[in-house]
Amino acid sequence: MVSDQSANHYLVPMTKGEPIRRTKIVATLGPAWEREERMHALLDAGVDLIRVNASHGTPEIRETWIRRIQKIREERQSATAILVDLHGPRIRVGTLPEPITLSPGQVVHFVPEGTSEGSDIPTTYAQLAGDVVPGSRILLDDGLLAVDVTAVRGDRVEGRVRYGGVLKSNKGMNLPGATVSAPAVTEHDREEVARVVALGVEYLGVSFVRRPEDIQDLRRLIPATVRLIAKIEKDTALANIDGILESADAIMVARGDLGVELPFEQVPLVQKRLIKLANRHGKPVITATQMLESMITNPRPTRAEASDVANAILDGTDAVMLSAETAVGAYSLEAVLAMDRIAREVEAHRLRPTEGERRRWQIPAPHFARTKEGHTPSEDAIAVAVSAAADLLGAPVVVCFTSSGFTARTVSSYRPKVPILALTAEPETFHQLSLSWGVVPILMRHVKDYDPMWATARTEILARGMAREGSRVVVTCGVPIGIPGTTNLLKVETV
Ligand code: PGA
Ligand code: MN
Repeated sequence: MVSDQSANHYLVPMTKGEPIRRTKIVATLGPAWEREERMHALLDAGVDLIRVNASHGTPEIRETWIRRIQKIREERQSATAILVDLHGPRIRVGTLPEPITLSPGQVVHFVPEGTSEGSDIPTTYAQLAGDVVPGSRILLDDGLLAVDVTAVRGDRVEGRVRYGGVLKSNKGMNLPGATVSAPAVTEHDREEVARVVALGVEYLGVSFVRRPEDIQDLRRLIPATVRLIAKIEKDTALANIDGILESADAIMVARGDLGVELPFEQVPLVQKRLIKLANRHGKPVITATQMLESMITNPRPTRAEASDVANAILDGTDAVMLSAETAVGAYSLEAVLAMDRIAREVEAHRLRPTEGERRRWQIPAPHFARTKEGHTPSEDAIAVAVSAAADLLGAPVVVCFTSSGFTARTVSSYRPKVPILALTAEPETFHQLSLSWGVVPILMRHVKDYDPMWATARTEILARGMAREGSRVVVTCGVPIGIPGTTNLLKVETV
C-alpha cells in the first residue's frame, strides 16, 4: 500500500513558506555588488556561494571584498562559502597602445611582451613560439578572433588572420590542442594563494588544470581545510579526468574556455559526462559560464538560457554559476532571481515521485552504490540506505552530523528526495557545505554525545518548519563523533 504521506512531502516548505531549493547558486562578485546593501540583497535573492575572480581587480580590492563578505555572512549567520578563482596559466595579449583592428588575411606577429615593435602583438606568454607550429590556431578574445600560425622564427610567431575584429589589451588567448608548458600554479597565483588563505577563504578555483599533479602540487601549499575546485577547461583535463576527480574536492565545468579549447559543439555532451563523473565520485560540480549571459544587459533571460540552466540541473549539477551577469551586469539581482526560479520549477517537477516510483519504493530496490577498489565503503552503504529509508518512511528530511562535511557530501551525492540538514561545529565545514546539492548547513556548538546533538537537530527542524512533531526522520553520522570519515550509523528518530 502506498502511504499517503509520500504524496507530496518532497517539497518541504521553509518557515517563510518556500520549499528549499536543492541546486546551489554561485555568483561572481564585482563592482555591481561590492556595496554592503547590494551584497545583502543578492544573498536575500538566493546566492549560496560567492566567487571572487583573482583575474580582476587588485589584491587590496579583493581583500576588502572578502572581509566584507565575511562580516556580512557572520551578521546573517548564513552558510556562504567564498571561492577565490585563481588566474592560472591563462595566456593573454599584452598591453597595446590602442585597440587594433585585425582584418581577414592580414599577416600579424606575436612576440613576448616587452619586445614588441610597430604592429607586433605582445603576449604575456614568453614560450608561445615553443608551443605552436605552422598550422596551429591562436584564438583571441574568447575565440571571437582567430589567427592561423604560418611560421615560427625565434620567439616571433607569424600568422594570418582568419576571423578579424577589434583586439584590445589583455584579452585572453587560447591555443586549442597545444601543450602549454606554463606551470598550472604560477608565481603570481602562489602570492594570491598565500594572501587569501590567510584571510580564511574556503575554496580555491584552479584554472586550466591539466593533470592530477596540478591539484596535488597546490594542495601542498595550503591548509587541509581549504578545498580545491578543479576548473575543467582544457582537452588534456578531459583525458585525465578520473585522476583529477580523485585529487580535487570539486570540479567546475568551465564552459567559457572549454568551448574555445574544444570545438563548441562538444561542450553539451562533455558537460553531461563531467557532471555524471563528478556525481559518481561524490564530488560537487559547478556548471559555469554564459548561463544567463544576455541578462548582463537585459532584465529577462532568453528561452535558450532558461533551458540551459534547467538542463544543467537535470544533468545533475550541484550548482549553477553566474559570472559577468552578477559581477558587472545591469541586472545582477534579476539574474539570481531568474536562476532561483528556474531551479525551483525544475525541482518541483523532478523531485515529485511518479506513481510508478511510489509503488516501487514499497519494495527494497537494488541501489547504485559507489565502490572503491572493488568494495563499497561503509559511508556509501549508509548513504544509500539513508535515501532508501527516507523514501520508505516518507521522512521529510534527513539529518547528518558532520565535522569535515564528508558524511553530508556522501549523502548529497546519492541525491535523496528530501533536504539534508547538516549540523556541524566547524565554521569551515558550515560554509563549505553551501556548495553541496540539497544540503542545508547548520552551525552548532561542539557536543560530544549523540543525544544533545539530536536535541539541537530537532529544535532546528521544528524552527525551520521542515517537519511536524511526530514525523519520522532519518539521522546519520559517524560514531565516535568528531572523527572524520567514520560514517557508520543510521537511526530513525521521531520529531
Ligand atoms: P573563467 O573560468 O571565467 O575564470 O575563465 C570559467 C570558464 O572558463 O568558463
Ligand atoms: Mn576559464
